[in-house]
Amino acid sequence: MSFLTDLVHSPYQGDHNTGAVVPPIYTATTYAFKDVDGPERFDYSRSGNPTRQALEDQVAKLEAGHAAFAFASGMAAIHGALAIFEKGDHIIVGQQIYGGTFRLIYNYFLRWGLEVTAVDTRKPEEIRAAIRANTKAIYFEPLTNPLLQVTSVKQIAALAQEYGLLTIVDNTFLTPYLQQPLKLGADIVIHSATKYLAGHSDVSAGIVVVKDSYLAKRVYFNQNALGGILSPQDANLVRRGIQTLALRMDRQIANTQAIITFLKTRPEITQINYPYQPDQAGFDIIQAESKGLGALFSFELATSVDVAKFVSSLKLINLAVSLGAVETLIELPYKMSHAELSDAELATAGISKQLIRLAVGIEDVQDLIADLTQALDVACQK
Ligand code: PLP
Repeated sequence: MSFLTDLVHSPYQGDHNTGAVVPPIYTATTYAFKDVDGPERFDYSRSGNPTRQALEDQVAKLEAGHAAFAFASGMAAIHGALAIFEKGDHIIVGQQIYGGTFRLIYNYFLRWGLEVTAVDTRKPEEIRAAIRANTKAIYFEPLTNPLLQVTSVKQIAALAQEYGLLTIVDNTFLTPYLQQPLKLGADIVIHSATKYLAGHSDVSAGIVVVKDSYLAKRVYFNQNALGGILSPQDANLVRRGIQTLALRMDRQIANTQAIITFLKTRPEITQINYPYQPDQAGFDIIQAESKGLGALFSFELATSVDVAKFVSSLKLINLAVSLGAVETLIELPYKMSHAELSDAELATAGISKQLIRLAVGIEDVQDLIADLTQALDVACQK
């Protein structure tokens, strides 16, 4: 079956009791044993739940993985994945990974004895220089937030294989609709399913997909032992969101392209970070490894424009962090998503105070453009 059909028809086999065409929400926390020798399939819902399992099987299939594990948030999923490492192991991470992931690694995992080096994953020589005898994995996001710097999954996976390291990819932004990292050589894929997979700003969820049974056993151990599982109700919301992933993304990408065309007509916009043209860094990698660039991008306003006035003058577009939902969200990275960074760290990361991030939704794009136009006009008034 094609990917588009797999989005709608998950591997779920149907409810033999009722013929329900979608997986029922099983709320039971415990399952009766047939006899003392053990239960048939499920025994306790932290260890396994049919509704969660239906979602996990669905995402494993979409990512071309061996198995998937659903957690209560993207951060819980990252915790579950990174907890496969031991005290004294070393991992290499992308410098521009999501701030919450950085915090989890530096303020939590380091205390448990994990070692880490952050590098620019676009530069293989930096990765090679960081590899040590105890290095176990490279963890990165193929498309960074908010500057959309592109890293090749194929290149990193080949380098990792050379040294016997795992490749772990946070595929939140591109989703399996646009890129399937396991097919490009990665070993583990992570999602904040809160974003595009669920797609409606109404559920927090995370998923880890693994390529083989060895990794499946280790991540399953963490899911069950740590206990940060996705509830059956939320698993159902993510499953339902996934059915419209391609439809939503197609519209979001078309809207993004129309908004960028509009922004290019405005002299106040000094830079657009969305590598969609051949002369832009990362364009060739996106062309080779992804079906598209997604619907998140950032742009710089001239210093003469009052950025705070611009974002607070918007009437339709919400000023909010997060992304990947049906409604368009805008934010100021230095004040919102990246507020934890010092001025020096912001400068190193290339995040200026005039940078705006837009996560484009599925509204009528003319309404979005009208809203951006009126807010720009207000913000440009002296
Ligand atoms: N990974 C990426 C790329 C993210 O943007 C986020 C959140 O913004 C996360 C992981 C964490 O996900 P969650 O907020 O669902 O815990």
